Amino acid sequence: MTAVLAAAAAVPAAELSSEQRAVVDHRVGALLVFAGPGSGKTRTLTARIAALLRDGVRAQEILALTFTVRATEEMRVRLVGQDAAYGLTVSTFHGLCARMLRSHATRFGRSVEYSIYDSSDLRRLVADVLADREYDSEPAELARGFEADVVNEIAKAKSALWTTEDLRARSAHPEGELIADLWQLVEQELRASNAFDFQDLLTNTVDVLTACPDVRDRYRRRWRHILVDEFQDTDRAQFALLLRLAGATGCGPDGSLMVVGDDDQAVYGWRGAAVSNLLEFDRSFPSARTLMLRRNYRCSRRVLAAAMQCIRHNEQREPKALIARSGAPEGTVSLRRFDNDHAEAAAIARDIVEHRDRGVDPREITVLCRTLRYTRALQQALTARGIAHRVIGGHSLWERVEVQDALSVIALVCNPHDEVAFGRAIGAPTDREQFRAAQIKAPTRGVGNVTKRRVAKYAQAAGIDILRACSAADTLDIRKAAREPLRVFGKALSAIRQELVDGRGIDHLVTRALTFEGGPVSVYEHLLQSTDDAAVLKDTQRVLEDLRSLVRAARTYETEHADATLVGFLEESRVEPAQVIHPGEDDRMTVSTIHGAKGTEAEIVYVLGCEERVLPSGYAIDENDPRRIEEERRLMYIALTRAKTQATVTVAGERIGDQRPRRPSRFLAEAGLL
Ligand code: ATP
Ligand code: MG
Repeated sequence: MTAVLAAAAAVPAAELSSEQRAVVDHRVGALLVFAGPGSGKTRTLTARIAALLRDGVRAQEILALTFTVRATEEMRVRLVGQDAAYGLTVSTFHGLCARMLRSHATRFGRSVEYSIYDSSDLRRLVADVLADREYDSEPAELARGFEADVVNEIAKAKSALWTTEDLRARSAHPEGELIADLWQLVEQELRASNAFDFQDLLTNTVDVLTACPDVRDRYRRRWRHILVDEFQDTDRAQFALLLRLAGATGCGPDGSLMVVGDDDQAVYGWRGAAVSNLLEFDRSFPSARTLMLRRNYRCSRRVLAAAMQCIRHNEQREPKALIARSGAPEGTVSLRRFDNDHAEAAAIARDIVEHRDRGVDPREITVLCRTLRYTRALQQALTARGIAHRVIGGHSLWERVEVQDALSVIALVCNPHDEVAFGRAIGAPTDREQFRAAQIKAPTRGVGNVTKRRVAKYAQAAGIDILRACSAADTLDIRKAAREPLRVFGKALSAIRQELVDGRGIDHLVTRALTFEGGPVSVYEHLLQSTDDAAVLKDTQRVLEDLRSLVRAARTYETEHADATLVGFLEESRVEPAQVIHPGEDDRMTVSTIHGAKGTEAEIVYVLGCEERVLPSGYAIDENDPRRIEEERRLMYIALTRAKTQATVTVAGERIGDQRPRRPSRFLAEAGLL
């Protein structure tokens, strides 16, 4: 979220405009705040929480939903210092649902230990289903493309609350019918693995709240005030959840529902977000009030003018006033063109050194790009000049391949029916590059896809879990060579599972899951001892450090949660894999995707790579759908409106790995910059 939150809990009423004060003072029922970037939506939302607390509302009665994990984390960190805020629920939609669903898992044929699959897990599962149907005769590239399509179509259908029949009838995909069939099989597999995917967390929670009025009423009594930031990016399922939690009166007559959003900043259409939620809010909540915030408190005049000039080219939007605050500085918006990405990176890095030398706070410098891919040269240039920077939107600890491998072992200990976790854990290490580079054989267990599948099928048929099936490997119809490794693996993990059942602590269990014989740590220690290649050594040290971080994360989780469980720790790694930034602890500048920078701001902003096929992206251009281009234009709008004083957009004529000459983005001319 924004720097404003630092003081937000104690924002004095005098620091709010009269429009903002009306929002804070709204008492009961539904309220929509519809306003442009930098108009103080988030600040007002937080000020409202503070006002509710001051009015004697108990923190336990307040639920604040934010869109990104980072936003949640920042809000939590900033409000937690306040005694009165203790007990407040601040969460993402997925985090909230994952917690609510635990106690209702049996309704869906799952146990409380259910696993949560992300899209890459789902792809593995889809690949298995396709392999069962002998669908793998295509070239591998095509098959992979199709797997991704299947995962996307299912996710979109779930977020629209469709059934398989809806998908069959309504999908625009040429293979819609096949995908609907596959979806049914995927559901069976998810159930057999005691797992939910990301979308299930939402749709199933909605289902529980619909079917069980007593549960719904319990939550309604609990959260009497609900606040939602970045509402434009909610999808149908999230909206349905809100409706269940708030009722058609919006938590009335003595509670409130406040949502804040901006249709011009809706950028998750590809993930099923429905901006219509924002535009039709008053239809679902007939007594809703709508308030506008017309003044922008963030951007300099030139920045705001360029951004508004650009967004005007969108046809799908609600025109709304946005005026610079009185006394706003003129600021600057400039376009800089370079021959190639190296010149671009060098110039930006040089600039940043100058800013630093002039005493600019590094936290007030942000470099944005459509995708992090194009920031590599810049990151190198920054590192070469000794400029510390944090990167947002890319790989956090939790997304590293080796950490994911380790998490799959933990997931299997926790939920021994989880076939995807089993497949990953038994096949680890997933990334064998380090071993190849060191010219040694990766110590894998030699258990291929067919064998994995047989073990899992055997477990299903025999009604036992996968670890027990591994222990019985000698009796299975599988390759002889695979039997011993499976048995050893099954025995080791069963022992750890027993410790879980015996009630051992999470820190201990995670350490055990990482350090058992043949497990993640021993694999990389083996590599460390077997090579003297400097690059491999360095990378392996990095992996071991990541694994240590995982143990530290488990320790922190355990100390921070009175009701800590291993499944809760896994849940956190899945739905809230935050890059936790504690205020004051991180004073680096930021390199981020535009998506990752939503809600934030900085004095000086660079928007790197403002070229056709970067922003707008090549996908958006090739799809030939004006709505996709409009979504890209909104990204440009968001990028520019992050800048408080100075925005610099850059264009490179060439980029490494893509020798095609590059043209400036169409959005630059629209913004009056070309
Ligand atoms: P976005 O749409 O980008 O998320 P937003 O509408 O949530 O923006 P905020 O981040 O809450 O806007 O506020 C933008 C900036 O304006 C912050 O720096 C905040 O401190 C400042 N601001 C907001 N309201 C006021 C005010 N009444 N007086 C002074 N500064 C304000
Ligand atoms: Mg905001």
